[in-house]
Amino acid sequence: MNDCLFCKIIAGELPAYKVYEDDRTLAFLDIHPVNSGHTLVISKNHSRDMQEASVDDVCAVMATVHHIAPRILAAVGSEGYNLGLNNGRDAGQVVPHLHFHIMPRFAGDGHHLWHGKSIEDKELAVTAEKLRMAIAV
Ligand code: AMP
Ligand code: ZN
Repeated sequence: MNDCLFCKIIAGELPAYKVYEDDRTLAFLDIHPVNSGHTLVISKNHSRDMQEASVDDVCAVMATVHHIAPRILAAVGSEGYNLGLNNGRDAGQVVPHLHFHIMPRFAGDGHHLWHGKSIEDKELAVTAEKLRMAIAV
């Protein structure tokens, strides 16, 4: 995985503002933060995305999110955060090494959440059945 940006950060071949590290995961500041304290959390094992990652690696990354997020919030004076995953190019993933964004939020910071749309109950029912069948495979 020599040409993976985040693997190079793990290997110390590229600089990063590291804020936490253990034997399985690494957390460092996003260089283009949406707010102060915006932190990326990655597994030290390379995987492109959620599909490629092992459950073990995902759990390790989530344990790190659980451990550091409240501490990051305390440090920057935030009382809430969005946890982001851009999974796949169509979802906006640019760096192909699975990473979660911890994005501290502040009242009135100008960022907006997703906007849901109105939908017929029938369409929800059809979609739910389609998903149940896909998941059961
Ligand atoms: P995405 O793949 O869409 O989740 O976005 C990748 C994120 O990585 C962006 O928010 C970038 O600002 C961030 N990023 C890219 N290169 C670096 C780097 N060398 N160090 C820290 N963050 C980075
Ligand atoms: Zn990588």
